[in-house]
Amino acid sequence: MNNRRHFITLVPFAGAALLAACSKESSTTDTVPAPAPMPAPEPAAPMTPPATTDTTPPAAVSGADLPLVDPAEPVAVSLGYVAVASQADKAKFPNHAADQMCSNCSLYTAGENAPQGPCALFPGKAVLAGAWCSAWVKRA
Ligand code: SF4
Repeated sequence: MNNRRHFITLVPFAGAALLAACSKESSTTDTVPAPAPMPAPEPAAPMTPPATTDTTPPAAVSGADLPLVDPAEPVAVSLGYVAVASQADKAKFPNHAADQMCSNCSLYTAGENAPQGPCALFPGKAVLAGAWCSAWVKRA
């Protein structure tokens, strides 16, 4: 009987101790410090063009320093390229007109009065202003 009475008197104290322990444990979770705020991103640096000391515009390709197209090279042959427009093969290219020549072709990128200049069909080479090929397109 003595043990039973002793047990009954201890239960409230044990319960109180247990509650105190639990509340203490939960209070520790409540006091966990919040994570540190993320630092604000640094503002982006303004875009600036690369530093250069040369302010002259790029020189236009005149074609004066380019090698001339060889009329015997395969692309030239396939296009019927001739160094002198009047020598175009009239039988093979009946649409050729006497006033058609590289200097007034839209693919000729040099000035109309340049003696020779680049053509888009012959990269790295120049055609003569008075030449012609079957890809001629009237300059606008
Ligand atoms: Fe001349 Fe025009 Fe033929 Fe080029 S495409 S070779 S510029 S005629």
